[in-house]
Amino acid sequence: MTDTQPDVQSDVRAWLDENWDPARPVGEWWKMLANSGWGYPHYPVEWSGRGLSSDAESIVTEELAAKGAFGPPWGVATMMVGPLLLELGTEEQRERWLEGIVDGTDIWCQLFSEPEAGSDLAGLKTTAVRDGDEWIINGQKVWTSGAIDAKRAILVARTDPDAAKHHGLSFFIIEMDQPGVEVRPLVQMTGESEFNEVFLTNAVVPVQNLIGEINKGWGVTLRLLSYERNSLDPEGEAGLQNKFDLSTPVGLLASGEVDDGTQTMMPKGSEAWAMLLGMIQENGLDTEAPIRQEAMRFYSMLQIARYTSLRAAAAIDAGQLPGSEVSLGKLASVRMMRTWRDLALRVLGPNGQIVGEDAPLGGRVAQIALSVPGMSIAGGTDEIQHNIVAERVLGLPREPRPN
Ligand SMILES: Cc1cc2nc3c(=O)[nH]c(=O)nc-3n(C[C@H](O)[C@H](O)[C@H](O)COP(=O)(O)OP(=O)(O)OC[C@H]3O[C@@H](n4cnc5c(N)ncnc54)[C@H](O)[C@@H]3O)c2cc1C
Repeated sequence: MTDTQPDVQSDVRAWLDENWDPARPVGEWWKMLANSGWGYPHYPVEWSGRGLSSDAESIVTEELAAKGAFGPPWGVATMMVGPLLLELGTEEQRERWLEGIVDGTDIWCQLFSEPEAGSDLAGLKTTAVRDGDEWIINGQKVWTSGAIDAKRAILVARTDPDAAKHHGLSFFIIEMDQPGVEVRPLVQMTGESEFNEVFLTNAVVPVQNLIGEINKGWGVTLRLLSYERNSLDPEGEAGLQNKFDLSTPVGLLASGEVDDGTQTMMPKGSEAWAMLLGMIQENGLDTEAPIRQEAMRFYSMLQIARYTSLRAAAAIDAGQLPGSEVSLGKLASVRMMRTWRDLALRVLGPNGQIVGEDAPLGGRVAQIALSVPGMSIAGGTDEIQHNIVAERVLGLPREPRPN
């Protein structure tokens, strides 16, 4: 460790006073954050971090916001792949991939879900067949967020078709820019194309890109999913890092003059609360009992989501798999944003459905309202979270499984 916890605030403040410059290109700024260890302070010192706990990460996030500075890169790469490589990758794999993750040069995506394997992910059918020093991949993935911009992906594929379904899977890293990988964007009801279908036809993965052991990929997958905690954190970055022009002055991204990719995404919890309160006050509804009740319901869910995300982070810091808090936190986050959507649309009336710059809040309410249903599906549906809580927390009998 380079810092004790109480030093973190003063140290990062001093570093920002010396180094934050809105005119710097964002690529240069991200490299500086990586080299100083302040981008990912919870990563080990030898891997562009400071070896601090997740609490330190929250302090740094607050200090960046207070300074008006732009934060580090975010997305599948930083949220899931980086921590996984630190835990289960080989030294050689960390050398190859971590630098481009922490400095935002490389965008990654997650090739897990298939047309017939979402909730039942272990039932996936994409195959990986060994051929000398390579694995040959065939199959189809779907709902792959950000695949169109991604340079690399994490992939789960079946390596033993004869084994029971959880025991025949392996976990790989695949390069997206190769002839066997075809990405087809899907248009969502928001008008955005965040999702994609990905067709894999004799795509190639070198044997060095296996994470963990052959046919032990299910354990790696579960570990990876535990790192989705950042997406549960109501103050974590939502959505995916855009394919930025890395020469963009970072101040334009920090001030919102250039879209950083989060404008159409879910707001952070504190931002959502500020937006909601502002709408209620501007419309003179802050003395209306039913409106106040719903606003307090939102606020309660926000506090539950914050608390459970802190507990999940503490479990991961202690090297454990987080438990029920992951499911409870996700359910709270989804309920929180459903309450937000319903209340915002009630406060704004039909104006809340308008998109475009002249609409209230730049049309963001309509965009968020259309994105909320996806929250209850991504990363495991509400029903799956309920089943996990029922079986693993409450000890109720297991749901009947088709196989
Ligand atoms: C915004 C968003 C981003 C996503 N990004 C990615 C990504 O980047 N990469 C990726 O691989 N995938 C991604 N996904 C896919 C996501 O992981 C799947 O959609 C999800 O796991 C559900 O799978 P499914 O769509 O196949 O639905 P299904 O599993 O077919 O479920 C259909 C319905 O049946 C219910 N159901 C299923 N099984 C049970 C059960 N045992 N008990 C009770 N009810 C059940 C479900 O709750 C659901 O209501 C994303 C999805 C969304 C919405």
